[in-house]
Amino acid sequence: MNSAVMTTYAPSDIAFDRGEGVYMFTEDGRRILDFGSGIAVTSLGHSHPHLLAALHAQVDKLLHYSNLYVIPEQERMARRLADNSFASSVFFCNSGAEAVEAGLKLVRRYQVEAGHPEKNRIITCSGSFHGRTLATISAAKQEKHMQGFSPLLDGFDQVAFGNINEMRAAITDATAGILVEPIQGEGGIHYAEPDYLKRLRATADEFGLLLFFDEVQTGVGRTGKLFAYEWSDMEPDVMSLAKGLGGGIAVGACLANERASTGMAPGSHGSTFGGNPVAMAAANAVLDVILEDGFLGHVQAMGKYLKERLAALGEKHPKILKDVRGEGLLVGISCHATNLDLVKAMEAENVLVIPAGDNVVRFIPPLIVQQNEIDEAVEAFDKVCAAAQAP
Ligand SMILES: *Cc1c(COP(=O)(O)O)cnc(C)c1O
Repeated sequence: MNSAVMTTYAPSDIAFDRGEGVYMFTEDGRRILDFGSGIAVTSLGHSHPHLLAALHAQVDKLLHYSNLYVIPEQERMARRLADNSFASSVFFCNSGAEAVEAGLKLVRRYQVEAGHPEKNRIITCSGSFHGRTLATISAAKQEKHMQGFSPLLDGFDQVAFGNINEMRAAITDATAGILVEPIQGEGGIHYAEPDYLKRLRATADEFGLLLFFDEVQTGVGRTGKLFAYEWSDMEPDVMSLAKGLGGGIAVGACLANERASTGMAPGSHGSTFGGNPVAMAAANAVLDVILEDGFLGHVQAMGKYLKERLAALGEKHPKILKDVRGEGLLVGISCHATNLDLVKAMEAENVLVIPAGDNVVRFIPPLIVQQNEIDEAVEAFDKVCAAAQAP
């Protein structure tokens, strides 16, 4: 095909026409089970009636106006995020990378306000992913993302994920903050020892640093808690959200506690589209559903079931699969066979799953997924593994 779309992606040749629940349909009627959710985005599945109703109502009234005026739906969304998290204020933007960028700026500004302009470096972890802007590729330091884009941004140091001693050893008089994903998503669903996050908190306090969690992938119910940090008994100072936040509408957010946001005076940061009425109608509608009684319990139960079924497949196909890991409906299985081959074969079986780093296949269905739909995905994966070539 002679495409005019820039060659940054190498899409498979399927195009979708409509969606309903966990299924998407092609124009010629092929039905495909979506266990990728547009990379952890469509958390309520496709065509969720509550989300659609909220969007239709807003679109009929107003699409956009700027942050030069009060946006009531944005006020409401910020209040609800603050009331349900560690944060006291929220900056809205349109993507994960922008949410991380906002947080990086906030960390630097905080240290200036605190009388420490010399503290301007941020420590990040190997295997992390924070987006594709210049600052976020400079932060994550993934060779394949940086290549050809020099000069990168200075101000980032990197240590091994999950190693508190290395983290402490890397702190200098120039360190301003620590940026980590509580569970590394793109890197291959890696999580650290249970008390790593608590020790990061203690370390940040000891050295006067801000602790910044990138929950762009793990946030908004994906792991079975509203935010992944809730699994450990601690709170960050700053947190980025995006992916699932708008249920398919582009919404990003940077949340901060009171001290972390003190320097962000009028004019210090901004976004033309950030927090506009349509985006906020979507985000409020997503939150309505996720905060319903029992919803997060459903995510936990489905996640447990999915992990158990995949672990059983791991035992059945030990030459193809390795271990299952994840929390809630952020689940990955590491493979002996090539993950991309398995993803491709699943597509031929009409199931979408997503590759991740470390040769992992990610199962990240909409959070509304039901047990029989998990069975359908797992049965397809069983068939694919049975036919796959052991390396
Ligand atoms: C996807 C992701 C990002 C980048 O989000 P974009 O919306 O693609 O900019 C940042 N951080 C994490 C943890 C992510 O998973």
